[in-house]
Amino acid sequence: PKPIVAVVGRPNVGKSTLVNRLAEAREAIVHESRGVTRDRSYHEADWNGREFVIIDTGGIESEKSDDVFAPRIRQQALAAANEADVILFVVDGRTGATEEDEEVARILRRTDKPVFLLVNKLDNPEREEAVWDFWSLGVGEPRALSALHGHGTGDLLDEVVACF
Ligand code: GDP
Ligand code: MG
Repeated sequence: PKPIVAVVGRPNVGKSTLVNRLAEAREAIVHESRGVTRDRSYHEADWNGREFVIIDTGGIESEKSDDVFAPRIRQQALAAANEADVILFVVDGRTGATEEDEEVARILRRTDKPVFLLVNKLDNPEREEAVWDFWSLGVGEPRALSALHGHGTGDLLDEVVACF
């Protein structure tokens, strides 16, 4: 079976943008919303010939109702920790670490799977100092990313496939 990369994080941090960007490396989005739950989609991707499946978590439904949000995000993080080989934890570099980010971090700190902490929406180099705030999440080194522009995604993919 192909290695699984799961993308987790609270709504609106840029998970789907990142998944589209990473899957674009192969130009093939194979199946939407197939499988386990409605709020996941599975995409085929490859990088330098290493094929993997990338899971986007958090559909539209879960992003609408705030009251069920926290349990859901915990569920997603737990599921990702269970089924993935590598976890991409996305946060928003423009807002700083939030309560929900800490919620996810608490779960991911307990997994022995590789976790990449991605500080997204850092579209300009001068914003990179925003990553320092995220050391407090306790899941390792935060790295600057712009899913929108693709900054940082090549280096990320190099390190991700090295984990397989
Ligand atoms: P999700 O809810 O975590 O899947 O987040 P989305 O991928 O749907 O993105 C939420 C919003 O953030 C959208 O308006 C995106 O265009 C925007 N966004 C995502 N990545 C970036 C980025 O790197 N830079 C900027 N400026 N905006 C981004
Ligand atoms: Mg999304």
